[in-house]
Amino acid sequence: MARFIRFRQAERTAYGRLEGDTVHVLRGGLFDGREESGETLPLSDLTLLAPCQPTKVLCVGFNYRDHAEEFNTPIPEQPNIFMKPLTALTGPETPVYFPKALANQVDYEAELVAVIGKRARHVSEEDALDYVLGYTIGNDVTARDLQDPTKQWTVCKGFDTFAPIGPWIETDIDPKSGLDISCWVNGQRRQHSSTKHLIFDVPFLVSYLSQAMTLEPGDIIFTGTPSGIGPVNPGDGMEIRIQGIGSLFNPVKAE
Ligand code: MN
Repeated sequence: MARFIRFRQAERTAYGRLEGDTVHVLRGGLFDGREESGETLPLSDLTLLAPCQPTKVLCVGFNYRDHAEEFNTPIPEQPNIFMKPLTALTGPETPVYFPKALANQVDYEAELVAVIGKRARHVSEEDALDYVLGYTIGNDVTARDLQDPTKQWTVCKGFDTFAPIGPWIETDIDPKSGLDISCWVNGQRRQHSSTKHLIFDVPFLVSYLSQAMTLEPGDIIFTGTPSGIGPVNPGDGMEIRIQGIGSLFNPVKAE
């Protein structure tokens, strides 16, 4: 089992492998051999960043049956795919800014995020997991009052800071086995489900998307949120927990 982080320490940004509270610094990136330099650092000495640098942020809407039902949307027969801009990405503990110039309601969405480990094009479902490095936690933050299910979601889900991910990439977990996923606002649980309830599972999504576009190392797939979505406001704290990975916390701040 391995846990990979991206971090900032003083003037540098680097990747590392986390073992307990010890970081084994990598010489290069996550996708060029993951050679360790021999340098170690205590986790408390550094700032965690979004754990990878994707070329695209792919997302799936309505991928839990109970969430489609709370939205009065039919269970999809094809995955409902959308993207977030790279400027929406942010890391653990960083603020999510409430874009009050355009939005009146901002919601959390707890999601399992798959991280692509090697270039994937026309990959079969059977082989798909060979192309996944691991998983992290994501919050598909959404300006709900701007979201019309019949229209593009680029703006309502694309504001700066609306794609927090982290705190690290866990390589050896199996979402099919049923990982507990929950969202907590100010310490109160708002969402609770299991990754075994995904309508389109990770192998299907990787295979499906790879028929459409080349998936590059570091690209990420937000796999959808369960029921229980709801609003947050400046001053609130959002925490998403996924069994086997950990916890992603982001405060909401006024822009
Ligand atoms: Mn979502």
